Amino acid sequence: MVNVLDLLYKSTRSEDEVVTASQAILKGLASDGGLFVPTAIPKLNVSLSELSKMSYKETAYVVMKEFLTDFTEEELKNCIDKAYDEKFDTEEIAPLVKAEGAYYLELFHGATIAFKDMALSILPHLLTTSAKKNNVKNDIVILTATSGDTGKAALAGFASVPGTKIIVFYPKGGVSPIQEKQMVTQKGDNTFVVGIKGNFDQAQSGVKAIFGDKELEKEMNAAGFQFSSANSINIGRLVPQVVYYVYAYAKLLANEEITEGEKINVVVPTGNFGNILAAYYAKNMGLPIDKFVCASNENKVLYDFFTTGTYDKNRDFILTTSPSMDILISSNLERLIYKIAGNDSSKNKELMTSLNTTGSYEITDDMKKELVDFYGNYASEEETAKLIKSLYEETGYVIDTHTAVAAVVYNKYKADSKDENKTVIASTASPFKFTRSVMNAIDEKYDSMGDFELVDELSKIGNVKVPNAIEEIRNANVLHDTVCEVDEMTKVVKDFLGMN
Ligand SMILES: *Cc1c(COP(=O)(O)O)cnc(C)c1O
Repeated sequence: MVNVLDLLYKSTRSEDEVVTASQAILKGLASDGGLFVPTAIPKLNVSLSELSKMSYKETAYVVMKEFLTDFTEEELKNCIDKAYDEKFDTEEIAPLVKAEGAYYLELFHGATIAFKDMALSILPHLLTTSAKKNNVKNDIVILTATSGDTGKAALAGFASVPGTKIIVFYPKGGVSPIQEKQMVTQKGDNTFVVGIKGNFDQAQSGVKAIFGDKELEKEMNAAGFQFSSANSINIGRLVPQVVYYVYAYAKLLANEEITEGEKINVVVPTGNFGNILAAYYAKNMGLPIDKFVCASNENKVLYDFFTTGTYDKNRDFILTTSPSMDILISSNLERLIYKIAGNDSSKNKELMTSLNTTGSYEITDDMKKELVDFYGNYASEEETAKLIKSLYEETGYVIDTHTAVAAVVYNKYKADSKDENKTVIASTASPFKFTRSVMNAIDEKYDSMGDFELVDELSKIGNVKVPNAIEEIRNANVLHDTVCEVDEMTKVVKDFLGMN
């Protein structure tokens, strides 16, 4: 049942499939492999000065209701209330911290101390509400392959949510000790964490194969289950991320750091392009943002793209100290490509087909002109470490490696452009999540210390309490110890669901 007044969603790769917001959230990916996009980006319906008086939850409602028009007020407010509660260690949810002339938007105050919590704390509620609205009777089974951060954030979000189950596969031996401990100590009857004897790519391919298994889909349906995805291409993850850019602007205005309508810049440490795309959507909604500064680590595919107009993933994959940005295919960039092609799905499809077959594509000159608001650059490992050290020494503020990549690129942008706009830097993880890299950057003497010793040391030098997310795992019991071969993944899923 589609209401004519609803904002609808369509695929970036064809014109055939038009769905409501709740259907797009349930499906995750369009049937043609494209991403769901709103047929038009809605406008903010409240003034900036009204926004400046709102709490995070109130801001979330006025932003998200424009995108999720088939949710009732009660449904959406209910989702927001359940998401942004005491799981966050501050009522502000996303505080702004001023240091060395920039405003760090701290997006890491949720359950797993990385910015993924901003969306993954609400996605389970959006999904279960969507299931109800569309008369889905099956339990939703979330299947995820993770290289570390997404798995834990998804587990924390879905744990104990009625009507859902979540299964996370991670490469045994291929994640950091803290990341592994965070996952295998996860509580909740509906959670299941499995190490596979293989690498992340094999975990990811295994999950994709399970999603594509039509026989299994039938068996699942008969047993009362259906799969869904918590991956960042789900519109249910993108929309909640628009909120904090609006909130940050409103806070700057409330604190009289800017005047109403003054343009700001945003700097985003980027991997899959979801976070920065949310900022772009915020601007399209009417938020006064001037430039989007896209920061990469040494996997600088996006820097090359913004400087040349050619996207080329044919290169070595580099392991860095900002692993959540070690990525060569930025999936969400497709939504921007579609938009700068003039919402032309056939042009977008042509480029994505080229990416699939040759690993690269080149955009047209007209499309390049649409990218004037974007600036891309990257930070080397050495620059990133140096910045963590110097910012700490000059201000006492300790930031994580991903945020440091953004800060380096911000400095490069300022030097290149002489632009003096007030600037918000998205701070995407707590330094406690990447303690070893952060402490090594500050002083080599920390190299010999154990993981939790380092945590206590960071708490001392940074004058910040150890986050609950870390305290919790210090002495927590391992609750998940299943390890399987790659070709046993389907069997493991069925065992967990009691289908064997
Ligand atoms: C996921 C992640 C990123 C990258 O965000 P995208 O939306 O994928 O661009 C950056 N920093 C941290 C800490 C992350 O977990």
